[in-house]
Amino acid sequence: MTTALDALTRLREGNRRFVSGETAALSNAARRVALVARQEPFAIVLGCSDSRVPAELVFDQSFGDLFVIRVAGNVVAPSQVGSVEFAASLYGTRLVVVMGHSQCGAVIATLEELQGRPTNQSKNLRSIVDRVRPSVAAVLNSRRDRDPDDLLRDAVRANVRASVDHLRHGSELLERLIPETGLLVVGAEYSLETGVVDFFENVPASAQYGLFAR
Ligand SMILES: [Zn+2]
Repeated sequence: MTTALDALTRLREGNRRFVSGETAALSNAARRVALVARQEPFAIVLGCSDSRVPAELVFDQSFGDLFVIRVAGNVVAPSQVGSVEFAASLYGTRLVVVMGHSQCGAVIATLEELQGRPTNQSKNLRSIVDRVRPSVAAVLNSRRDRDPDDLLRDAVRANVRASVDHLRHGSELLERLIPETGLLVVGAEYSLETGVVDFFENVPASAQYGLFAR
């Protein structure tokens, strides 16, 4: 079983390969066939559905490596909590990464709504914005005079923090696995501009090293 910190190192190294263009992940038939009977994903990634943020590619991973949950705005609703619980309990995966990204459409839509611009959301889309709204509203209320780019960046990060917090404290199972097994839930932001994933939330001091640790 891969520990949370070892998993974090693997993701960082994979992202470094992705950014530098030295990708090494194999996606061949042999690997697919070897995984038919079992899987042991070393990390769970809750990311946004945005077509520009495919988790396996930005971490240079392949079949069987990542248990990926994608939903617009990387929000945490009961089905996302259940998916994380499923992988953590069934496969023993010890690292959970909530990965937001720059220019996130769900966060932008929420900011626009909060700033009184007309939006045309269906009930279902609204359910996503409703989950993004509290953390983004807090950012907006504290910094009305901020530059729009700064505001969006802070809102993206606040939304990631909210999802991390929800996963850490919104599930009895995960809350128990954290002290008992070393399960770690961290927050990250992927930059569309650079391809770099910045792990910025709840990363233990002992793991704050390396090229992308900030
Ligand atoms: Zn997004």
